Amino acid sequence: MIRAILAFMLVALAGTAAAQTLPVPFVLKQVGPGVYAAIDGPEHKSGSNAGFVIGDDGVLVIDSFFYPEATRALVAEIRRLTPKPIRYVVNTHYHADHTGGDQVLRDAGAVIIAHRNVRGWVRTENIHLFGDRITPELKVRIEALPLPDVTTTTGLTIWLGSRKVVVKTVLGHTGGDLTVFVPDAKVLFTGDLLWRKIPPNLIDGSVREWLATDADFAAMPDAARTVFVPGHGDVADASDVQDFRHYLLDLRRLVTEGRKAGLKDATLTAAYVEPKLKALHPDWTISDRALAAEVRYMNDELAGKKRRPVPAAEQRLARPLDPVARRNPKMCGTAAGDLQHRRDGLA
Ligand SMILES: [Zn+2]
Repeated sequence: MIRAILAFMLVALAGTAAAQTLPVPFVLKQVGPGVYAAIDGPEHKSGSNAGFVIGDDGVLVIDSFFYPEATRALVAEIRRLTPKPIRYVVNTHYHADHTGGDQVLRDAGAVIIAHRNVRGWVRTENIHLFGDRITPELKVRIEALPLPDVTTTTGLTIWLGSRKVVVKTVLGHTGGDLTVFVPDAKVLFTGDLLWRKIPPNLIDGSVREWLATDADFAAMPDAARTVFVPGHGDVADASDVQDFRHYLLDLRRLVTEGRKAGLKDATLTAAYVEPKLKALHPDWTISDRALAAEVRYMNDELAGKKRRPVPAAEQRLARPLDPVARRNPKMCGTAAGDLQHRRDGLA
């Protein structure tokens, strides 16, 4: 009998040990009192970074990864640190690598907060985001992503008891971006407006707006003592913000020069931009695939033919007033596109 109990206890202990040593697909880093960054691991099994803030009476999560298993692991890490309820998740933008685990957080009790445009885009534009990499299974998953419960176009302040969290609308990555700032800890979750030593995904972006937003990050009061949690890459500081700005400035300058020299496609990318950009940023990880996309999207923006997602309501508003927008409502980086963004209160 005793042997049987001992055997049972050993199995139970082995089970506990296994559960504790199971690797989580992210590295949890404390970046302030009760403020944590969850940095995607080297195998990218989370899909992006996330984070959370523990307040007096609850927890606010920033982004939910792409893989729900990673989100479940995040919930387990939160539970390990605090018994306080998970009250909110703020999506920094609609991309599925930041919203893919929203249902897990909603099931854990969170209210989903996002920019208004996330509600319109999360189930549709994410199909476009994956392009030829979309599978029927992924399409079904995207079309079932939860819609945000609370939306904003102007930003909001969330109080976790006496702890203040400031959510701001910013421009540049998608046209529906939020940042999350914890003033008492000087931690800014930038979403994908900042990447650390990795080329950013420009698919929906405006580099012009993006640079202005990053200049604002660098000009924050106390920027030198602020921790920046990027959407991708390791925890960053003010020098990383400048490094990222320089990367975007270099990309824009090199593509502009190449265009002026009449270079196109592979000649522009492989023969001109690639060697120069890699030489200027030797400590960055720049894949061929990422670089080809960077140059194509930068080129589109400079040529005034960049496709950006358009908010449905805004599109309706633009039609009777603007003949250019009527012909091509998806066109941005043009007067019509700029007008559309201004009408949305985004610029
Ligand atoms: Zn993104």
